[in-house]
Amino acid sequence: MANLNLSTPRVFQCPACGEFINTAMTECKFCGVAVDAEASTQAAEVQAKVGNACSDGSYLKISARAIPVAYAVSFIPLIGGAAGWAWVILMILTPILFVRWWMKYPGIQTNDADYKKAKASTWVSIAIWGAMIVVWLLVSALLAIVLRTIQ
Ligand SMILES: [Zn+2]
Repeated sequence: MANLNLSTPRVFQCPACGEFINTAMTECKFCGVAVDAEASTQAAEVQAKVGNACSDGSYLKISARAIPVAYAVSFIPLIGGAAGWAWVILMILTPILFVRWWMKYPGIQTNDADYKKAKASTWVSIAIWGAMIVVWLLVSALLAIVLRTIQ
């Protein structure tokens, strides 16, 4: 961990002005504050974690938003079957990604706006998932009633 500064410089946010600088600098090129090697390495690690949190968050977002699409398509004849399977997979995958995100990235100490956005979007994703369970139960119940009436 100690010699991380010797490898490729890594990006982090200046603790004084919040601009993005890297670990190769001895002082911030924006505000001129002295950069402590250890602190900057630590900050770069946080920044890397924030980056992962954002990309994992976007996978979760895509997974959650694909659920209603897959569900709607599953009612279309011929292609519906595959979409139905995609829906099942997404319904399993989304809460796994949600739990994984919160196990890996809870409360990172950063002012990074993207991290806050990623955090907020995990809740939107799990809300979509929860809403889709309700929709699925309602539609299934309705279909059961309709089928019984027809017979
Ligand atoms: Zn600065």
